[in-house]
Amino acid sequence: MTEGIRRERERERKEGPSLLALLSGSERRSRGRRQTGRAGSRKRVRKRSGALFAEQSWTMLSGSSLIWIGALLLGLTWASDFQHHGYEEMVRALFAIQGECPYITRIYSIGRSIEGRHLYVLEFSDHPGIHEALEPEFKYVGNMHGNEVLGRELLIYLAQFLCEEYRAGNERITHLIHDTRIHILPSMNPDGYEVAARQGPEFNGYLVGRGNAKEVDLNRNFPDLNALMYYYEKHNGQNHHLPLPDNWELQVEPETLAVIKWMQNYNFILSANLHGGAVVANYPFDKSREPRIRGKTSYSTTPDDKVFKKLAKTYSYAHSWMHKGWNCGDYFDEGITNGASWYSLSKGMQDFNYLHTNCFEITLELSCDKFPPATALASEWLANREALVSYMEQVHHGIKGMVYDENNNPISNAVISVAGINHDITSGTDGDYFRLLLPGTYTVTASAPGHQPFTSTVTVGPAEAVQLHFYLKVQPKGTNLNVKAYPNKKGSSTAKIPPTNLGPR
Ligand SMILES: [Zn+2]
Repeated sequence: MTEGIRRERERERKEGPSLLALLSGSERRSRGRRQTGRAGSRKRVRKRSGALFAEQSWTMLSGSSLIWIGALLLGLTWASDFQHHGYEEMVRALFAIQGECPYITRIYSIGRSIEGRHLYVLEFSDHPGIHEALEPEFKYVGNMHGNEVLGRELLIYLAQFLCEEYRAGNERITHLIHDTRIHILPSMNPDGYEVAARQGPEFNGYLVGRGNAKEVDLNRNFPDLNALMYYYEKHNGQNHHLPLPDNWELQVEPETLAVIKWMQNYNFILSANLHGGAVVANYPFDKSREPRIRGKTSYSTTPDDKVFKKLAKTYSYAHSWMHKGWNCGDYFDEGITNGASWYSLSKGMQDFNYLHTNCFEITLELSCDKFPPATALASEWLANREALVSYMEQVHHGIKGMVYDENNNPISNAVISVAGINHDITSGTDGDYFRLLLPGTYTVTASAPGHQPFTSTVTVGPAEAVQLHFYLKVQPKGTNLNVKAYPNKKGSSTAKIPPTNLGPR
């Protein structure tokens, strides 16, 4: 039993089982006859919010009706489920989860919006607030476009689900939380949300509330590193962690600034950015390599195209209908698309993740209706629940390991290169690295300034990440074996920015 569970159970012994534990217990009994494993914990909430006894037999309830009545009276914590959460309600919901699962969660703010709203992140981990070596960091970002609200709601439900299922002893969720540090930012654009919400679901137009308080589209607001990348590709330049332009802080909105600093402070490995207005899993690059020609699009591959396709398919196939392809009057084969082959987009967040950090991010379009009515939220949650969990589990594929020097000191910022994939990643401050890869055999090299590079061959299977550690010897004096000579071009884009394209993402 890990520390987290032990403390949680201990708390229950002292304070008595919580409402959630009671509900989880009775539901576990009811479904134990059918199957074990992942729970439909949302059912509980639905019961409390209208369709109370729809899925539960009276006979089962009669035995524990007192508990149910008590639960109904006490069930204020999660009472706002399957309604839209305005800013205050969202904050309350996040803190309520933190209160229910204090030993596996932490709330922190990465900054404030223009109107002063906190950009709150809810973290799940068996050691909240601490990066543990070899435990990857994952993030979900919702509501970047203020009027695309489903992602915001789904992330609140996901957080509630993780907390409830952990407490109920769900093995899969416990395993996930113990082995992963999960960061959830339900709303990147709380100001835009309030503007959109004032109109409400029925009247919300395509653009009202999309941007931040200054009506800037945050998914067109990141420094453009693609132009530099496409230049480097032709000139054998740096293939990862591209530098930011001078004074970039002055060129981005406060919300974007907060998210970039966040990305720089945590070694995120995998991420998704939740949008609405279509139903498809969209992967990098978003920006076309070719100049825009009216009516023409072109696939813009990353060196990790196969991995990105797999990530996108993981979501689309675990989603109830995304993979079917026909949605919202559009067709996307298998429910996935390369960004640029749909329409080219500059200064977006997912390309920035890949080009400036170790993080692989995809953009999920989750509903035709950007602001669905509250009555649609329960079924949307059920359609996305498995996909949201499966996608997080993808952070555990490929290879991971430590990079040490001869004295077993971890080396941060060591470069990990995989032969045949022109995109390196780096080790984090603890000397640990994570390289997402599909099953196969790879030749992997670790290098660091002042050390001799070391190359290893490794076979990746379909299951958990293979561990591959490196011990780098100090480089003999007078040699310069491992420092890649990159052309020195400052990270400033000279590319013309095409007119803003206002598609869903
Ligand atoms: Zn969007």
